[in-house]
Amino acid sequence: MSWERQVSIKSKSELEIMRRAGEINAEALQAAADATIPGAKTADLNAAAEEVLKKHGVYSPFKNYPGAYPYPASTTISVNEELVHGIPGNRKLKEGDIVSIDCGTVLEGFVADSAISVPVGAVTEATLNLLRVTEESLYIGIEKMVPGNRVGDVSSAIQQFVESKGYYVTREYTGHGVGRKMHEGPQVPNYGVAGRGILLRPGMTIALEPMVLVGTPATKVLRDQWTVISYDKSLTAHFEHSVAVTENGPMVLTLLKDGRKPGRKL
Ligand code: MG
Ligand code: MG
Repeated sequence: MSWERQVSIKSKSELEIMRRAGEINAEALQAAADATIPGAKTADLNAAAEEVLKKHGVYSPFKNYPGAYPYPASTTISVNEELVHGIPGNRKLKEGDIVSIDCGTVLEGFVADSAISVPVGAVTEATLNLLRVTEESLYIGIEKMVPGNRVGDVSSAIQQFVESKGYYVTREYTGHGVGRKMHEGPQVPNYGVAGRGILLRPGMTIALEPMVLVGTPATKVLRDQWTVISYDKSLTAHFEHSVAVTENGPMVLTLLKDGRKPGRKL
């Protein structure tokens, strides 16, 4: 059975573990966001996040994630045209860039997975708009994560909002169930048809992650075999939360301890 079909239902106590994992993950993302300044290297952002994980005695499921070769870091740091899976390294950030930071945390056998995009110094109004639309599309998708809705209701809400703003959603990479494994079912694309797909039930936990492109929906993978960029090298952004479906509505699992979302105010 492929991971797309393995849907697991979490108990209240399991959700509580995932929420605590999410809190640590948000703290790691915030540390990386705070390190996002002109002149910083993408490796510095990864180091800032790793320090937080280490302090809490947890690790990232990204490290050694299987691929063409094991993924070498705890975060993915993707700059500008890099959509997802950028490997932290010596690339220096410049004023006006945007950086997408994705991090995972494993706590007591459960995974939290979340991503933010942050501006480097001052950015143009057009760049800010891309960040705002991408983040808003995540919350529009989250609102649809209620029992009785289907995956297609979430997917189509994200797609329609993003496309109404003149941007594109990726077709090749999707949101996913998250729990004991980073990637479980159901697969949750950022495009789709309302009313279709798997029924959402209380206890399902999904990492929802709109990946938005300015130029076209097309992507390609760089020669490092991990980094995904926009095919036309236009700007991209990515936001992600791990979210539980509950009888009381969607519950975001990857917020900071004080309930705020990690990242920069846009
Ligand atoms: Mg992620
Ligand atoms: Mg994810």
